[in-house]
Formats: sequence, C-alpha cells, structure tokens
Amino acid sequence: MNERVIIPIVVGTKVLSEGSDGIGQSVDPATGEVVATFARAGEAEVEMAVAAAREAFDNGPWRRMRPFERGRILHRIGELMLQKRDEIARKESMDSGKPLRDSYWEVDCSARFFEFYGGAADKLHGNSIPLGPDWSDWTVKEGIGVSLHIIPWNYPFQLIARGVAPALAAGCAVIIKPSADTPVTAYEFVKICQEAGLPEGLVNLVNGRGSVAGDLLARHKGVDQITFTGSVPTGERVLVAAASHAIPCNMELGGKSPQILFADADLDRSLPIIAGGFLTHCGQVCNAGTRLFVERSIHDKVVEKLHARIKSMTLGAGVEDPDMGPLISRSHKSDVERYYDIARKDGELLLGADVPTAAALANGAFVRPGLVVGANNSTQIAREEIFGPILTVIPFDTASEAIDGANDSPFGLVAGIHTSNIDKALGVGSRLQVGQVWINSFGVGLDVEFPFGGYKLSGYGREKGLEALAAYQQVKNIAIHHPLPG
Ligand code: NAD
Repeated sequence: MNERVIIPIVVGTKVLSEGSDGIGQSVDPATGEVVATFARAGEAEVEMAVAAAREAFDNGPWRRMRPFERGRILHRIGELMLQKRDEIARKESMDSGKPLRDSYWEVDCSARFFEFYGGAADKLHGNSIPLGPDWSDWTVKEGIGVSLHIIPWNYPFQLIARGVAPALAAGCAVIIKPSADTPVTAYEFVKICQEAGLPEGLVNLVNGRGSVAGDLLARHKGVDQITFTGSVPTGERVLVAAASHAIPCNMELGGKSPQILFADADLDRSLPIIAGGFLTHCGQVCNAGTRLFVERSIHDKVVEKLHARIKSMTLGAGVEDPDMGPLISRSHKSDVERYYDIARKDGELLLGADVPTAAALANGAFVRPGLVVGANNSTQIAREEIFGPILTVIPFDTASEAIDGANDSPFGLVAGIHTSNIDKALGVGSRLQVGQVWINSFGVGLDVEFPFGGYKLSGYGREKGLEALAAYQQVKNIAIHHPLPG
C-alpha cells in the first residue's frame, strides 16, 4: 500500500474514487505514514448506495434464488477470503496496527462466518402452528430488506463479515459504512463479494465520516435495519436516527468485562488467558477483560506474575507481529494516557505511561501496558471503558463479593471465571449479568457458532450463531381456513 491507493465508494457496479465530502486519509498507527486515501461520501453517494441496495433487494435475483444457491455463493466468499488471507492480513495490520497473527485470525474468522451462514441459508425454517381442525397455519422467514452495517475500527474486516454474512443468508441487501480510521480491508471484502458472483447492488460500500455519511445512512428511509458496532455515545445517536423512521437495530456497544480468579485455579493456565484478555490488540477489544477480581490470598502473587509478564513485552509495528502493536491513532493514545493519570489518582499504577524509547517507535501511537492495584470497583478507572491495555486488579474474600463486584458495572458484555471447582464456576456464572460466560477460558478461537452480545449498556440483539439471523428476518404468519365442503 502507498499514498496513491484510493479506497473508493462502491454502489452497485459503480466504483467512485471521489465523494462529495472530499478525500480522507488512513494512517499506519505504527509509523504515522499515510497508507491509503479514501473517497468520503456525502448526500449524493448515500442516495446512490441506498438506491442500489433497494433495487437489489426489491427487484434483484437474490430473493428469487433457491436458498442453497445463495449458500453456495456465501461459501465461495469464504474460500476467496482464505485464498487471499496473506494480502488481506498485511493490509489490515498496516491500517489498524494490530499484530499480524491477529489480522490472520480476523480473516480466518471472517471466512468461518461465511461457511457457517452459507450452511444455514437453506435451513431457515418457519413453524407449523396448530389452530385446530379446518385450519393450517405456518410461519415463513423473509429477509428484512436493506441492512446497514456501521463498523468500528478495531476489527473492521471481521466485524463486516460477522454482520453481512447472516444478513445475506437471510436474503437482505447490505450497505457497509466502515470507520474512517480503517477503510482499507472493507474494499477487499467488497471485491471478494463481487468475484464470488454476488448479484449486483447486494453489497455496497460507503466510506466517509460517521457524522456525515453514517448519520445520513442511519436516517435514510430506504434503510430497513441497522447493525451498529461501536461506542455507547455514537450508538445512542444512531438509535435516535433509527427512531426517526422506526427501524430495528442490533446494538453491539462497549464493555468493562470482569475476570474472576479464585485461589484454587491453575494459575499456569489462567494467567496467560487473563493477560491475553486485556492485552490483545493493545486492549482495543470490546470484550476485553479489564477488571480482575482476584481472591485475596493470591492477590500479591498474581500481581507479581502479571507484572513480570507485561514488563517483558515487545512493542512494534503490526506487520512485524510483536507482542503488542500500537493504539489506533495518536489521538486515541492521548485518551489512553489520560487514564494513566486517572489510575494514579484512583490507586497505584504498575508500569504504564512510560513512553517507549526505541527510535523505531517514535512516530507511532505506542503505549506500554499497565496494572492498577489499590483501586476499588467504584473508581473511574474500574468503571469506564478505556480501550487500552490497562487492567484493574481488585481483591475479594467471598464468591458473593466477586459476583456483586462483577455485576456492579454499567456494562455487561462477557465475563471469565477461573477455578478448579465446577460447582463454584457454574454457581457464579449463573449469577453474572453478561451475554457470555467463559469458564477457565476466554474465547475458543474462531468462535462463530454461539451468540454474542451484551446486557445493559453493552447493547442488545445478538451477533453470531443462529441467533444472529433473527435481526435480518421478518416473520410472516400465513393461515388457511379449509372447512370440509358439505
Ligand atoms: P465509534 O462509536 O466512534 O464509531 C463506530 C462507527 O460509527 C464508525 O464507523 C463511525 O464512523 C460511525 N459513526 C460515528 N458517528 C456516527 C453518527 N452520528 N451516525 C452514524 N454513524 C456514526 O466507535 P469506534 O471508536 O470506531 O470503536 C470503538 C468502540 O466500539 C468501543 O466502544 C468498543 O467497545 C466498541 N466495539 C464493540 C464491539 C461489540 O461487538 N460489542 C466490537 C468492537 C467494538
């Protein structure tokens, strides 16, 4: 990639290298260098994209195809992703700064979404409902229409695939609005869809600013449903826009996920999981486990071990596959550094905020990870989503205390429990107000098969698994009265 690469707007078969809101730049956060420029959509391009998607949904071939034929095209998209994984992963690491292995995970997970929903496309059954003699009644599931996908910058390729694959399987047409910080691999996604033979206008790409293109799309009466992944304040704005024409939304918002570590846990197994839970992609993960509730008897030992672990971490550009890459931008780096000051006010900060000194890192958005001890669960550092590599460690004495602390949060996305006692694990898990509970684990790898989504401010609706399909479907009930003649 170099500065001359222009990421276009794609509406139907048209590829627009200019948009009416000018040109944006995307920067490699490891070096500060421009890796691509992109066309920014304004009203004219938003109108074109909605018209293309509407035409594809209302009059195009997708809904008339047999479901297994749709499934085959989705499978083909997944295959092409795997064929192009090196190219996509490198581009993603340069655009978002994440270590190469995480970018490979993104591509592999995206392919899995297309395999999974490709297989589901011909299994979207309705129900037969008994109404008594002389009646037949059943439900059919129909695609909801034009589905808008507003995407954040942390896992752009994977989050597009997560929403678009079930939307297409359900029969919808889609419009993708990537983050202005990471527009690059969204274009790779659209090119793959075209190469796989997806009918014209079914997938449209609208790059641009959230406050312009994103807002215009969310308000547009030609959009039937929105899947939003991003922060709580932006999500609230999108909900207001959606309410202006009363359309449903899937909201995947932020988190401040708890990890609960009991003294009987196998620390050799648990600590790497806990460390990965707050350090992956420099902590810029919605479900990052950033509050660690640890049984008091092992608190000091755990802090010492985690501290030793983060001290030795290497930082570097994503394409070099370091232990940890940069944050997404220098402005986000300033936001995270502000939390290092808050951490010192709320407790004691172990490692962190010391600016990396290597010359190769000088122009990048690098920070060092931090552990916060001595801060309780009601402090600012323990309540706000930071989106940086900071873990707040809070001791507890009883399981009830750990449960209360874990639940005492505005968010409720996921939680981890680490113990060798299965009764304790299940008892605690059943009391946590979160959408996913992980016991002695915090992710299975290419996890696409089961539902993901939040309680409370973490959002509503579910992504992944068969549950995700509901967001993209209307349920129609058909009843026939057929009394026996005579
Ligand atoms: P953000 O809210 O700033 O932006 C998200 C998207 O919304 C971007 O595409 C942006 O351009 C667009 N946008 C901005 N203003 C808009 C408006 N007025 N109308 C319509 N669209 C608008 O989020 P971010 O900084 O890109 O991502 C980080 C956030 O995303 C974190 O809070 C994180 O927890 C959350 N996130 C959640 C999940 C999940 O699945 N729960 C996954 C990843 C990230």
